Amino acid sequence: MGTIKRMRVKMMLLTSKMIKDKAKELGIDDIGIGNIERFDNAPPLMSVKNYFPGAKSVIAIVMRIPRGSYRGIEEGTHWHNYTFYSYNRLNTTIRPRLTYELSRFIEDFGWEAVPHYPGVPERNPAMEPVAPGKLPPNIVTSIRLVAAGTGVGEIGHSKVFLNKKFGPRLRLGLIFTDAKLKPDPILETGTICSHCGACVRKCPGNAVPPVNDKLSKVEIDYGEKKVYYGNVQMGRCTLTHHGFNNEISPFLKKSFPNMEFEVKNSNMSEEEAYRLCYPMAQAQWGATFNDNNNKSVIEYYDYVMKHVGYFAVCGAKGCIRACMDSLENSKRITNTFKNPFYRKKSWVLSNKPEEIAEGINPFRNEWLDKNYPGIRENEEKNI
Ligand code: SF4
Ligand code: SF4
Repeated sequence: MGTIKRMRVKMMLLTSKMIKDKAKELGIDDIGIGNIERFDNAPPLMSVKNYFPGAKSVIAIVMRIPRGSYRGIEEGTHWHNYTFYSYNRLNTTIRPRLTYELSRFIEDFGWEAVPHYPGVPERNPAMEPVAPGKLPPNIVTSIRLVAAGTGVGEIGHSKVFLNKKFGPRLRLGLIFTDAKLKPDPILETGTICSHCGACVRKCPGNAVPPVNDKLSKVEIDYGEKKVYYGNVQMGRCTLTHHGFNNEISPFLKKSFPNMEFEVKNSNMSEEEAYRLCYPMAQAQWGATFNDNNNKSVIEYYDYVMKHVGYFAVCGAKGCIRACMDSLENSKRITNTFKNPFYRKKSWVLSNKPEEIAEGINPFRNEWLDKNYPGIRENEEKNI
């Protein structure tokens, strides 16, 4: 009897403050808590309640992206640090470990905790349900929409999630629990985002709409509050993010020196962009003329995919780098630095070819000219 009583007392003792203290002890950078009613309007295929009908609270955790992980891309000299520490491994290893630890802590008090591994809702195809009347088996929430409902930050104009400490330099994790917890207030749109437009001006994909474009706003209704952000053209962003934009990718330019693809005016959908970028990043083609016999069409993308399991090429030039600089300078965020992020003018490549490489196979020609000068003489007129 005494044991049961003690367990009941322990279950009741789990509070928002205890979870926040534990999160701090674990090294989680920030945390917000929302009540489940805020997500009543969520579409069924993205609803927390359809994962966990008994959920009473949603917890969002923030892990910062080190500012230094952008340095190599900003210099134009090193890319995969960012993909590793601030994208793929931060999302798949570093942050999930802490989500797991915090879930364990909650469950030690007798409350179920669902650690959520973020997915891409718009990529999940509908599938047959496991039983009649059920929803498809692959529903997934939008992590930033749920996080905004916990008050741990707001969705900035650029659609990137912003936090009071780190601005856009963060990745998010979620836990759903049946513990009823005191919620944090939802932030008003504009609490962190100044609508300065730096993300619009510096986005190399022309994906972020002008801040004063009233028609390009997405509104989200949490019941007690509505918030809004810019309707980003995700096809252009995906093409640029995954390096199909000459202006930000020396790697694409090396493999397709004659290509002049206008991402900035593209109307490609996000899915079309994925279908182009991912297969191309891993594509092989029989005859290449580099020194290590690598047959990858875009050598660096193939390498970085194999090396770190993902490839983030834009380095969020507008929506994170320019945004964090703006928020640091205007002191709208607290995690600031002794030196400014931008120390010189940022580089940008031309979308146009420097010179049109002529002939049927310029790669072969270049290789032969280097290794067998003169051997191609009179050749092309005979092909
Ligand atoms: S740069 Fe950042 S703060 Fe400025 S409008 Fe874009 S999201 Fe808002
Ligand atoms: S990732 Fe690059 S292309 Fe996409 S919105 Fe950010 S700055 Fe623009």
